[in-house]
Amino acid sequence: MGATTAPDTSPAVPFFTQAETFESLWPTTRRHLDALMDRGKYSHGPKVEEFETALAAWTGARHVIGVNSGTDALVLLLRAAGLRPGDEVIVPAYSFVASATSVVLAGGRPVFADIDPVSYGLDPASVEAVRTDRTRMVMPVHLFHQLAELDALLATADRHGLTVVEDSAEAFGMRWDGLHAGLHGAGGVLSFFPTKTLGAIGDAGAVLTDDPELAEAVSAMRHHGRTGRTLDDFPTINRPTELLGTNSKMDDIQAAVLLAKLGRADQDIARRAHLAAAYTERLTGTPGLTLPTVVRRDAATNPVWYVYLIESDHRDELADHLARHGVQTETYYPTPLHLQPCFAELGHRPGEFPHAEAACGRALALPLYPDLADRQLDLVSDLVRDFQHGKQR
Ligand SMILES: *Cc1c(COP(=O)(O)O)cnc(C)c1O
Repeated sequence: MGATTAPDTSPAVPFFTQAETFESLWPTTRRHLDALMDRGKYSHGPKVEEFETALAAWTGARHVIGVNSGTDALVLLLRAAGLRPGDEVIVPAYSFVASATSVVLAGGRPVFADIDPVSYGLDPASVEAVRTDRTRMVMPVHLFHQLAELDALLATADRHGLTVVEDSAEAFGMRWDGLHAGLHGAGGVLSFFPTKTLGAIGDAGAVLTDDPELAEAVSAMRHHGRTGRTLDDFPTINRPTELLGTNSKMDDIQAAVLLAKLGRADQDIARRAHLAAAYTERLTGTPGLTLPTVVRRDAATNPVWYVYLIESDHRDELADHLARHGVQTETYYPTPLHLQPCFAELGHRPGEFPHAEAACGRALALPLYPDLADRQLDLVSDLVRDFQHGKQR
């Protein structure tokens, strides 16, 4: 070892990396990028449309509209589904913050409801309890590895004439009775944030829907309200703008990466399932630890392991213990949405949504991604078990 060798400061187990995956995809990705460069059309180009078509085939959605993030997909979906200023949208109090901020950005008002503590999905009974005469929509969010209780939520929405928009940002590959997440109400979204099951190497997202009018509206709104799907439709640029839009086009470079990635989606999902099963096998019976459950539904469903989420009374100490041994974790999600400072003006108090609040205090996501090696998973599992046993003594 020479004196000039820099110490290796990379963690033993990063929370996420796709270095190896990307390496193996590089030849395919480069072919797509070369085609892009040769064509000389760098925005709203051919790769986005190619990816939309491929993703529509993979999910079974009639329409896929690529945009620049899952968050923008939510905002545009809410607007295209007819949200009017001041309309209330019921959102779970336990989710990524964008589930609720998107409602405000679309001009509506988020109304929080509690979750089911086992599936972490919106609780239909809580939806009934918080609904008012101004409620227009309900947003089931599908978290971690499974869908929320869709049958009951769809029935509740139906009973009260509410439009269902799904925050299916995490639910790539999950189906309920054969129908992909996002296609059970007016529409849904996907996020291609790098850590997501289908992850890009930057930001990207999409709206999924079977409704042609909604698809047309989202497609126009992502591009300054212009109709006509590509910049090839030059005459449309000079038409009067009827729909208030924005610039939320998907980046062609991300589309090129995602096209390559979609080709190995089944393999990645299978690898994630293998890793989740290995965690469950190693961690079953650990004192004081709650492991993720696959909830049995009346409908046919399939888990897709985006996140492996455990719960512990000593979550923060456990995270510190893992970090000291070079294992990175994430807290999904540290603060319930009704208590986020950005929603202070809604006047919520601790204790209103006990299941959401409990999950925020106890939940910890362990590293789970196709590049994670079995021996890394063994290390993480041993550290978690040792820590929990130590707490029992
Ligand atoms: C990732 C995520 C989003 C936002 O997606 P971005 O692409 O990061 O904007 C929204 N909702 C949920 C539940 C998510 O997990």
